[in-house]
Amino acid sequence: MGIGGLQDVDPKLIRHVINTVVPFKTILGSIGIFISGAEESIYCPFHDNTETRAAKLFKDKEGDKIWCFAERRMYRPYDVFKEGLTDKDPEVVYRRIWSKLDNQTKERIISEMGKGFDIKPKNWDLLEGILTKYKRGEASYSDVLKGILRLEVSIDV
Ligand SMILES: [Zn+2]
Repeated sequence: MGIGGLQDVDPKLIRHVINTVVPFKTILGSIGIFISGAEESIYCPFHDNTETRAAKLFKDKEGDKIWCFAERRMYRPYDVFKEGLTDKDPEVVYRRIWSKLDNQTKERIISEMGKGFDIKPKNWDLLEGILTKYKRGEASYSDVLKGILRLEVSIDV
């Protein structure tokens, strides 16, 4: 038992619950970052991005994700803590969510833990090709966005 009679929580469970249950807009909104944009093309909250919307916010069966094409990086809600966007304790957020879930949902979340999350999408190589062309000036910004949209479709399958 931890301080105040609370049971110690597996840090992996904290990360998993925040990633799969909490919407990005909620967690970013709670720390004063408000994101909006057509088709969820957004300014990336994880790097200095104010000129062109460099990221895409979407949701798949694993939860919310932000894909930043400038950084070529996929972010998940827990990264708000990991990347230091807030000093808040993720365990406090986790406890608030966990206390509201019914037992069936809790069991499902635990059983899903560590089952092939954080793997690359199937057609990642296709997008890599488009990004390489974009860097060389051989592909347009809209080609890149189309590539990301195809990526999303593949993740949803
Ligand atoms: Zn970024």
